[in-house]
Amino acid sequence: MSTTVALFRPAAAMTSEPTRPKATRAGGLVVISGPSGAGKSTVVRELLCQSQLPLARSVSATTRAPRPGEKVGVDYHFLTKEEFQRLREAGAFLEYKEVFGRGDWYGTLQSEVASGLGAGKWVILEIDVEGAMSVLAAHPDAVTIFIHCGSLEELERRLRQRNTESEASIQRRLEVARGELALQDRYTWQINNIDVDQSVHQICDILAREGMKE
Ligand code: 5GP
Repeated sequence: MSTTVALFRPAAAMTSEPTRPKATRAGGLVVISGPSGAGKSTVVRELLCQSQLPLARSVSATTRAPRPGEKVGVDYHFLTKEEFQRLREAGAFLEYKEVFGRGDWYGTLQSEVASGLGAGKWVILEIDVEGAMSVLAAHPDAVTIFIHCGSLEELERRLRQRNTESEASIQRRLEVARGELALQDRYTWQINNIDVDQSVHQICDILAREGMKE
C-alpha cells in the first residue's frame, strides 16, 4: 500500500457547498471495517465514550471463544454453533459470515440494528468486508468507513503486540487482511488509524457531514 495515502479521505472529492446549519438525518447505519489488528475495536470503544452524538453499537453474535477480559453481551453475544445455527434459520441475522474460514461464525442481529435505528441513533456495525457489502445491499444509505493502519508490516506488528493470537491465527488474519485492503475503495470514508483520538475525531466529523445530507 502507498505510504502517501491520506489520513482521512472521502472516496469522492468534497464539494465546496456551504455547510448546512443542522442535521437533516436522524441516525442510520455506520459500517466500520478494516483488517483485524488495525485498532477498530479500540476506536469504536473510544468513539462511544467520547462522542456527544446519539450512538449505539450493534453487539454481534459469534461462535468464537471469548478472549480474556471480553464480556458476554458487551463485546459479543457468545453463542454455541447450534445456537448460532438456530438464529440463522429463524432469520435473526441481517448478515452473517464465517470470517476467518476456520469454523467461527460472526453475525449482525436484526434486533440490535432495529432497536438503535428505532431510537434515531447512529448504529455502529464493526464487521468484515463481505458482511459490509451485504449490509450495504439491504441499506444503501449506510455510512461506510474503512479503518486501516498504513501497511501490512504495521498490521503484523500490532497483531503480535496484542499477544492474543496464535502464530497460525496471526498468519490467517494477515492473509484475510490482504483481501480486505484490496476492497477498501468500496468504502466512502477511509481512516489511517495512527492515533485513536484523531480517528475518533475523524469519525465524529464524518457523521456530522453525513447527518447534513438529504
Ligand atoms: P475478532 O475475532 O477479532 O473479534 O473479529 C474478527 C473479525 O470479525 C473482525 O474483522 C470483525 O470486523 C469481524 N466481525 C465481527 N462481528 C462481525 C459480524 O457481525 N459480521 C461480520 N460479517 N463480521 C464480523
